Amino acid sequence: MTYLIQGETGDWEVVIGLEIHAQVISRAKLFSGAATDFGAEPNSQVSLVDAAFPGMLPVINEYCVEQAVRTGLGLKAAINRESVFERKNYFYADLPAGYQISQYQQPIVGEGTITLDLADGTTRAVGIERLHLEQDAGKSLHDQDPRRTYIDLNRAGVALMEIVSKPDIRSPEEAGAYLRKLRSILRYLGTCDGNMEQGSLRCDINVSVRPAGENELRTRAEVKNVNSVRFVMQAIEHEAERQIEVYESGGEVVQETRLYDPGRGETRPMRAKEFAHDYRYFPDPDLLPLRLDDAWIEGIRAALPELPDEKKERFIADYGIGADDAGVLVAERETADFFEAVAKGRDARAAASWVATNLFAVLNKQGLSITESPVSADNLGRLLDPIADGTISGRIAKEVFEIMVETGGDPAAIVEEKGLTQITDTGAIEAAVDAAIAAGAAQVEQYRAGNEKVLGWFVGQVMKATQGKANPQAVNELLRQKLAK
Ligand code: MN
Repeated sequence: MTYLIQGETGDWEVVIGLEIHAQVISRAKLFSGAATDFGAEPNSQVSLVDAAFPGMLPVINEYCVEQAVRTGLGLKAAINRESVFERKNYFYADLPAGYQISQYQQPIVGEGTITLDLADGTTRAVGIERLHLEQDAGKSLHDQDPRRTYIDLNRAGVALMEIVSKPDIRSPEEAGAYLRKLRSILRYLGTCDGNMEQGSLRCDINVSVRPAGENELRTRAEVKNVNSVRFVMQAIEHEAERQIEVYESGGEVVQETRLYDPGRGETRPMRAKEFAHDYRYFPDPDLLPLRLDDAWIEGIRAALPELPDEKKERFIADYGIGADDAGVLVAERETADFFEAVAKGRDARAAASWVATNLFAVLNKQGLSITESPVSADNLGRLLDPIADGTISGRIAKEVFEIMVETGGDPAAIVEEKGLTQITDTGAIEAAVDAAIAAGAAQVEQYRAGNEKVLGWFVGQVMKATQGKANPQAVNELLRQKLAK
């Protein structure tokens, strides 16, 4: 399905590339031993290296390198045996050294790929251009004082992975799917917590447009630092529409950096786009080229967890569940584990549907994650058992489930206490069926005249009389038998 925007002169295609800055999960910074805890007292986690005191030398944190390699392997990317740290020079108050240590010509990770799971159930591959390691800058706090700006250097020197996609993304929906999938992979790997509100995952969007059918890439604008999946999708839409208007009114799009304002639903210029040569990159003389050995890389590869794509395939093959449910269940590792605990030794399709549909409806409504679920995996599993053996009907099960959501209670105890056990005793059901037939002479006539739909009315009467506890299968069978006469 191609996403096109209708302009006045015809249809336009949108070309999108994403640059993600992902904060590495590590207790210490990339080149110093200072801590990285979020929310600490300002300037309490700053070493002399981070503050760029003269003569201080950076020392590479091996664990951060390992995290970058692990991420590269998770993105099915080439790991470069040799990479080089360079200085990216610019002036800003929260960058005390006057340069950021980054990687430019030779990044640690080369080309890879991410598979998008789209809403219509299809998948699509998006190329990864590169992943490089770099330091974060500090933070300028403009809201502490009306006249002054304060600087917090806690974040200065924290390790970031900059993950750059190829311009393969073609719609806001695909951009959203890309971000969600990347975040899911990073979380599975334990290399970034993916928290966009806290800024541990930040997204820059490169957007250009071109008339449908054209193959050249046109000038792009970069929308900086968008901090939620929803805003990324909105920013792309607004920026694409703006560019189409520029072209259609005879103008040219200029290469620049823009900001997205979600309140006004527009992007606006921030600064003229810098080019790489503006930064005067050069290899950092304080750091040797980074050389990795094969055995070390293979050790990391061997310890990789099962990732969402492989897990999804296994769920489909081993449990016989649909691609849709499987996709929902593997998005977070905790959800997948929860599902497997429920499904163990039970009807896996029923388990998938209860987790992906009923439980997720509750979690979404209450804004809870799976680890905060009011219903434990163990209890949900034990709700499926009496459904499977016919002790309770699906309808009763939903009633029990609602009570479990409120109380976190045990399903067997709830069924017992409320007397919800299904009536399978045919004598009791037969009495209710006879009563319904006796009360509905007109409906009996309609049914015998060929109107099958009336059966539903009888079922309803019997269920009402038995407070929903009659076994629906037995009710249907008995009704058909007796009405046939
Ligand atoms: Mn960067």
